[in-house]
Amino acid sequence: MSLSFADLHLDQPLTDALAAAGYDSPTPVQLESIPPGLAGHDLMVSAQTGSGKTAAFLLPTLQKLLKRSDQPGKGPRALVLTPTRELAQQVEKNAQLYGKNMPWLRTVTLVGGTSFGQQIRALGRPIDLIVATPGRLMDHMRQGRVDFSRLEVLILDEADRMLDMGFIDDIETIVAATPKERQTLLFSATWDGVVGKLAQKLTQDPQKIDIAREAEQGQIDEQLLYCDDLRHKNRLLDHILRDNSINQAVIFTATKAMTEQLADELYEKGFAANCLHGDMPQVWRNRTLNDLRKGRIKILVATDVAARGIDVPSITHVINYDLPKQAEDYVHRIGRTGRAGRTGLAITFAEVNEYIKVQKIERYLTRKLPETTIEGMEPTRKRSGKQAMRNRRPGQGKGQWQGDRNQRPGKSAGNKHTARNGKPNGARPASAARSNTTKSAPRNSH
Ligand code: AMP
Repeated sequence: MSLSFADLHLDQPLTDALAAAGYDSPTPVQLESIPPGLAGHDLMVSAQTGSGKTAAFLLPTLQKLLKRSDQPGKGPRALVLTPTRELAQQVEKNAQLYGKNMPWLRTVTLVGGTSFGQQIRALGRPIDLIVATPGRLMDHMRQGRVDFSRLEVLILDEADRMLDMGFIDDIETIVAATPKERQTLLFSATWDGVVGKLAQKLTQDPQKIDIAREAEQGQIDEQLLYCDDLRHKNRLLDHILRDNSINQAVIFTATKAMTEQLADELYEKGFAANCLHGDMPQVWRNRTLNDLRKGRIKILVATDVAARGIDVPSITHVINYDLPKQAEDYVHRIGRTGRAGRTGLAITFAEVNEYIKVQKIERYLTRKLPETTIEGMEPTRKRSGKQAMRNRRPGQGKGQWQGDRNQRPGKSAGNKHTARNGKPNGARPASAARSNTTKSAPRNSH
């Protein structure tokens, strides 16, 4: 019999909230992290997005907050640092969901791109949990607005990504301001390199928990489609987007400009498409995510970092229009689908001359990406003979594309979502799309 949340010795206000949220049993990362987390140990957890890692660090933290602090003061008792604004907002939302039977619980999100007023007011009152991106938290710390003297738990979510984004100095400054006897919970896709060294510095006798990548991705089918050039890629994309098994899709491109261009092109073709990238003002980003959640946007064209916190279970497809620059981003990208126990399909385009980049991703994954073609749309350019042979798996190739395997009647990402005025709901006119992004980006605002 599988263990329940109560078996993990979580208190009833939390187990009731989890039941109300529809969580039947803990995920592997929760099973392994919650008991040592409750026992007060420091943790170094490698788990991917989609694994349930947020609850894995929030539940032991909230259980601590169920008891009154024995320290005077009004500063935060727990701090979660995240790389992106969207992820911070998601974490706070989850904290409110799991803490719904703790009416006294006060949480605040401190992220850039939003006004200081509300954040300053929240910091003026007693606060239990801060969820923040490092840049904005530092802004408040410089003004002396944050008192960490009663901090009990420090959490770094997606620590590797925060370091990739250049937050190392900010993180070290923030950690130095927290009490030494705190509990430290670190979550990262990898502990290689700088992030491993940082983890050593921040933790005391940590328990290491490694949740296998494969187990988490059981819900996501993957396909690799080679194309000759951009024109060929666009034809393939058009074909795929007209597949009626698509409910909602996230398309990843390499640049912010390309998200706009592609979203405009898709919009003009009648798809309910919009873009998401770090140069958009935060209110627009929030609105876009809300439109995605509400189903008003069917196709979101996004950059890697902007899409990190997206947790929308109805996303059925991820399309890697451009290959990710870093192999680990592949895992984060495909994790936008197959969420909350559902199935998803991740399709990756690669131009024939990009197979070295594909191999890099495959080495990181320690497995091959299943290569396939669409009948009548096969690439005509060849990779070098040996390479092409090595990459092709038996039984795969011509006509093997299985976009329809999840077919659901009446659902389509295509023209069926066009609104009465002939334009899709939730999408924006091409001209507006460009003017959205004329403002310069704040620091680290992907
Ligand atoms: P995360 O990896 O924290 O981003 O969580 C991925 C998704 O799984 C989110 O939509 C969570 O709400 C959901 N989730 C987390 N834990 C559970 C659970 N034990 N049972 C069902 N869904 C869960």
